[in-house]
Amino acid sequence: MSEQFRLVSFTLDSAREEHPAAAWLASIGADHAPAEVAAPAGLRAAAWDVELEAASLATLRDLLREETGPEHSSILVPPTLRGSRRSLVVTDVDSTLIEQEVIEMLAAHAGREAEVAAVTERAMRGELDFAQSLHHRVKALAGLPVSLIAEVAADVVPTPGAVELIAAAHASGHLVGAVSGGFIQVLEPLADRLGLDHAHANVLGVRDGVLTGTVQGPVVDRAAKAAALRRWCAADDVQPQRTVGLGDGANDLDLLTVAGLGVGVQPKPALRHVADGVLGLRRLDAVSAALGWGA
Ligand SMILES: [Mg+2]
Repeated sequence: MSEQFRLVSFTLDSAREEHPAAAWLASIGADHAPAEVAAPAGLRAAAWDVELEAASLATLRDLLREETGPEHSSILVPPTLRGSRRSLVVTDVDSTLIEQEVIEMLAAHAGREAEVAAVTERAMRGELDFAQSLHHRVKALAGLPVSLIAEVAADVVPTPGAVELIAAAHASGHLVGAVSGGFIQVLEPLADRLGLDHAHANVLGVRDGVLTGTVQGPVVDRAAKAAALRRWCAADDVQPQRTVGLGDGANDLDLLTVAGLGVGVQPKPALRHVADGVLGLRRLDAVSAALGWGA
């Protein structure tokens, strides 16, 4: 049985080289004229509506995962995400919804940034168990004044296109939640600032006005991120296949796998092989454009 997928490609307006999407489609015998699609400012977009059988779909997905370079973004929208029924975007936070890694910003204040960054990098490559690495890194924050959290939260910079993606989702009646292996004390003010519908993250331990160097309760790991998506789907009456998962690291593997459309934002190699979309260009509004939201 074949189903209609939409392949949407993005390059910078100024790009000289063509996006490889047309060549991918030609290689699976699905080359025809692209459809019109609205591109976010500064980007050029093309879309192809293609009937794909299982074998062609697998080949196209492999090409997208392997060949979407830093100058392109490619998103393969499944038939389940077409149409206007309510959808839910669930996004990772550090290096996905925002430009920074919050734990590194906190560690910088403790003078231990390099040490913490090295552990983060290994965890995101999937070389370390996430919970273990989190405990290790949070320990480095022990003794920092709790007032620092508000300072760090104010310095957080949303990724280009994040505000536009959220606005487009809301304009089309969809919802956006953020789930983070970082900290709720930083995520909550950000969620308010961005108008997010849901937020879930670890709780930093605080005693007598300083960080204890521990997290309270169960760690938000890769399984917990997928669980948050399922929980919000149930709460908002959204079908799981009408979800979009966004992430960049190995701890987003389950989130991207359970989402109807899993998009890697400049993804680490460990995440790329489960993505249905790869943003080589750091522009989150490519996702809403690919879905035809907010237009
Ligand atoms: Mg991340």
